[in-house]
Amino acid sequence: MNRESFVPPSAGVSRQNGVRYLCASCAAQVSLTKGEPVRCKECGHRVLYKERSRRVIQFEAR
Ligand SMILES: [Zn+2]
Repeated sequence: MNRESFVPPSAGVSRQNGVRYLCASCAAQVSLTKGEPVRCKECGHRVLYKERSRRVIQFEAR
């Protein structure tokens, strides 16, 4: 049996529909659902890194 499929260690998060982000300021884990403002819930910072990808999601303050 050759299994090449990768099973992520955290495979029990199917109920949560949110996307996980990391705060760029305090590195707190923030999970946001669609429609929620991108903002750290710990420090209020608005620059969050998307987990897994290294892409920066930045929202400028008005
Ligand atoms: Zn923060």
